[in-house]
Amino acid sequence: MFSCRIIMSEDTTSPKEHVEQDPTKVEEAINSSEEAAPGAANLDQKSEEPKRSRFERRTTALSDVLRTIVRDAYLERFQGDPESLPEIDLNIHFKVGGRENWDVNFNPDLKEQLVVQLEDAEAGKGVYEAGRVFCFYCNNSLCDCAKPPDLRSVFHSYDSMGKPVWCDFPQLLVEVKHPEVDKIYEKGSQAISHILYGKQLKQDQLSSYGKSSKTYSLLGQIVFGYIGLKIPNPAGGKPSLEKAACTVQVAETRESSGGFSLKLNVIMGGLSGQEIKEHLSNRSLEWLKRAVGIAERDLKEIAIEAGIARKAQDSAQFNEQMKQVPMVLKSLAASINRGERQQKRRTQHVEQRRGNKNRPIHKAVEDVSKAAASDFYYDSEKKSMVCISQERAHIFNKDGQHITTFKLSGGELDKRKKAGRWGSVPAADAEALKHKITNFKKKPVINKKNFSGLSDLSIALDKATNAGDNEEA
Ligand SMILES: [Zn+2]
Repeated sequence: MFSCRIIMSEDTTSPKEHVEQDPTKVEEAINSSEEAAPGAANLDQKSEEPKRSRFERRTTALSDVLRTIVRDAYLERFQGDPESLPEIDLNIHFKVGGRENWDVNFNPDLKEQLVVQLEDAEAGKGVYEAGRVFCFYCNNSLCDCAKPPDLRSVFHSYDSMGKPVWCDFPQLLVEVKHPEVDKIYEKGSQAISHILYGKQLKQDQLSSYGKSSKTYSLLGQIVFGYIGLKIPNPAGGKPSLEKAACTVQVAETRESSGGFSLKLNVIMGGLSGQEIKEHLSNRSLEWLKRAVGIAERDLKEIAIEAGIARKAQDSAQFNEQMKQVPMVLKSLAASINRGERQQKRRTQHVEQRRGNKNRPIHKAVEDVSKAAASDFYYDSEKKSMVCISQERAHIFNKDGQHITTFKLSGGELDKRKKAGRWGSVPAADAEALKHKITNFKKKPVINKKNFSGLSDLSIALDKATNAGDNEEA
């Protein structure tokens, strides 16, 4: 059952759009509509005994016409089960005036008015779950089909029954003939991205299984990968670094209040919205967090404007706003590509700096105190002593003073050994060196208070020379 509230406004100032109609024809239409609803008509005949006024009879006829119009508009749009639609409060606006021969003028047109309100009524409210899509087959977002089965899967499309289809990321790239598909297997290559729009994602979906539903109306998505995700080890210990593909969707949905909303949904490996948020807070995914943040802000602005237009049933303005959604997707794709590139460069720099810069001296000394004789080498080129500890090389001069520490990338130690640059140190020498290093006394630090006059120059010079020593040679 629908309850309809009809709002009449007696405004005779806009006669332009009025269509001339013969009042007798209108009456005929109302009378014939009684045939369209035989059930109601039968009831009327029985209850006609106490003699109903002309007004009451026409009201009944009007209800029947409205009933069929609303029903047909609903079925045409959704083809769903009308039983699932609860009673809704409909507003229908029209203008009518005596000066215009009582012509009725719907503005916006009646169908448009109905569709907007039926969409809202049909949409499941507050069912949006970040990290998951809506499954129209199971009619919720909590079933297993609503999330990707693993980290490498992305959203492919909805099937005819409204069930989400997930597929391996490279498979989708092959399907769309992505020009860079082979790069996905290259080690350390850039993430590859691809945009798909709602029309493609819903092309197989039937109207009776949510194609037009605003419960979760997919407007488009970007799929990209692979990115590195640190997955915690359930047994404790170091997290593992996993390759993950990501789906970022823009979906129109309804808040629990029923309000129009646009969501940017980041979907990865069935992780919850909270878990994804935590991953994005990770420094290595800073670029993605920033890109997503910008897109979210842009979508919010569109949603506000579109929401206002929708409330005013101004479909032209609404469409104008929604036309910007593909632009948000495009700039998100661009900032994902750019951001990842920048981050990669930044990370390399940080790693280089970290590797080259001195670790605190006490750390180096601590490592040396634990080192075995076989961990010591003599650098024939730099005439320095090397102590290897956990893939780090601590460099000291012959007096045991720490010069620098840097990270050894895989194979570098062997390379230097093979090249004859780093030679092993006899155990006794190693012990002696160890003693020197652990007992090394730095030159007394000069207090700022004493820092005056001529000594300034010598101290500054001293400092400069020390700083030079500390640079990795
Ligand atoms: Zn399902």
